[in-house]
Amino acid sequence: MKSWIKYLIVTGIIIVLLVAGSLRSRSYEAEWFAFDTVVRVKILSRNPRSASGCINEIKSAFAYLDSVGSNLIDRPTYSPVLAEILKEALVVSEQTDGAFDPSIGIIEREWGRFKKPILPDSMKIVSLLKYVDYKKIRIRNDTILPGEGQVIDLGGIAKGFALDTARAIIEKYGIKSALIYAGGDIMLVGGKGKHSWKIGVRNPRDPEGIIDTLLLKDCAVATSGDYERYFIIDGKRYHHILNPETGYPARGLVSVTCIHNNGMLADAYATAIFVLGKEKGIEFAKKNKIRVELIDSSLKIIKIW
Ligand code: ADP
Ligand code: MG
Repeated sequence: MKSWIKYLIVTGIIIVLLVAGSLRSRSYEAEWFAFDTVVRVKILSRNPRSASGCINEIKSAFAYLDSVGSNLIDRPTYSPVLAEILKEALVVSEQTDGAFDPSIGIIEREWGRFKKPILPDSMKIVSLLKYVDYKKIRIRNDTILPGEGQVIDLGGIAKGFALDTARAIIEKYGIKSALIYAGGDIMLVGGKGKHSWKIGVRNPRDPEGIIDTLLLKDCAVATSGDYERYFIIDGKRYHHILNPETGYPARGLVSVTCIHNNGMLADAYATAIFVLGKEKGIEFAKKNKIRVELIDSSLKIIKIW
């Protein structure tokens, strides 16, 4: 081959490689505070402007959802967004026979939402249980109507909705690969490039440790644990996931990780299965084909895949 042809070919290859290199995806990351926790976003994109536009839009959506979704609802409240979240919550309440019950708010409030290590009066808790009954909640024309004396708490599902919203924003921007992390709950859009995302499941008894690693793509991963918000009195752990039958923290499991296409359902099922406990939780997950990883009090891992 003539040397000038060789030269042209080599130069052509170099140009192609340079162009391909400049089109390679980069990682754009952001971190902020919402829903009482750290939120992290990682986007793989070739377009810095679209990545930063997308991140800003997710930030505003989270700020809005946090401002409306983190309050307890104790009076008629008009809100199409909250009504949508509550409708899904009530579906899970029905499925779990009230293990997941958004009217748990009155009891959460009595526990001071687990912000200070103070035990509530046990008689008071028993007397408030009559207000915990999801069947008495009504929704009319996007207005939430708590039953008499009821307080609605969407804390077990609202973050999942925020993650679904984040995914919708990411898809609108045409971004194919992203991860959003909100204090234990995660939304995965696509894979990490061609690969799966590597998700560590926290060791419930070691804040720095990972007890298992999951390789996943395109799904929501929500974890409910007894180590997220809790206090210890006389060696006993009191945490924020309550059994609606007793008004006291659900016992039996220490962590539940749920994998589902829908962020709201991943979030609500993780909380619900935590409340159901080991035996009933396994039965429920199997019956409804829900992918879940349970960790029991002896730190044994049970996978329903
Ligand atoms: P986190 O919000 O820490 O990620 P979860 O998703 O498990 O954890 O939700 C726990 C929250 O769910 C509690 O802080 C409370 O707002 C709410 N909650 C607690 N117990 C129940 C229950 N039995 N049914 C529905 N919601 C609950
Ligand atoms: Mg939850």
